[in-house]
Amino acid sequence: MRRPLVAGNWKMNGTRSSVAELTRDLVRQVLPGSVDVAVFPSLIHLDMAMHALASGSISVGAQNCAEESGQGALTGEVSGGQLAEFGCRWVLVGHSERRLVMGESDAVVSRKFATVLASGMSPVLCLGETLEQRRSGKTLEVVLGQLCRIIEDHGVAVFANAVIAYEPVWAIGTGLTATPGQAQEVHAAIRGYLANEDAAVAEIARLLYGGSVKAENAAELFAMADIDGGLIGGASLKADEFGAICRAA
Ligand code: PEP
Repeated sequence: MRRPLVAGNWKMNGTRSSVAELTRDLVRQVLPGSVDVAVFPSLIHLDMAMHALASGSISVGAQNCAEESGQGALTGEVSGGQLAEFGCRWVLVGHSERRLVMGESDAVVSRKFATVLASGMSPVLCLGETLEQRRSGKTLEVVLGQLCRIIEDHGVAVFANAVIAYEPVWAIGTGLTATPGQAQEVHAAIRGYLANEDAAVAEIARLLYGGSVKAENAAELFAMADIDGGLIGGASLKADEFGAICRAA
């Protein structure tokens, strides 16, 4: 009964011509009406992507936003309010590349999460453990700790709208995918954690899996009881493969 969502994170990829080609090919994909599909281009390509995809059902989100929602003296930043006014429906928050490479703390992630919601968009909150944390048995402690911070700050009801993406850091862009069983175990723990706070919210919250999802492994991951779609990096840059992943959801 949860509507699946397949989201393509294009990261810092693309040129004007490659984005024109990718969006043209995406529009030609046969996408299931039962699945929400979204793409997250880099900021500079948002306008192009929105125009090119306007005729279809694919929505557009941003990969990041400022902690503040208004306007003002923050050189280089783009606010949640600006993104919403532009037509973005979603914003990725807490992606591991931003946590680990840009050093975003749980506090920063929490403020961005709030800004996205306050601007009328849906945050896609990314959670995940590193390989070292998994090997030392800390997967659930880390993932639920990241989630706990958001629930402490904003309550659990926000997950009627906000989406959670479990993305083990060791599986992102590495070609290593969590097995369906490994992914389901963490997804079930996330849903269980939400259920302890509010069973009704836990039932409707959408939990995506991300980490080297491809056309060939999507169906078995999406068949898991608590996996409601995927956050797709590399494979979302190929329209045919992304289309196949959407059809597997
Ligand atoms: C991501 O960056 O969110 C991601 C899941 O990447 P990939 O699919 O390339 O592992």
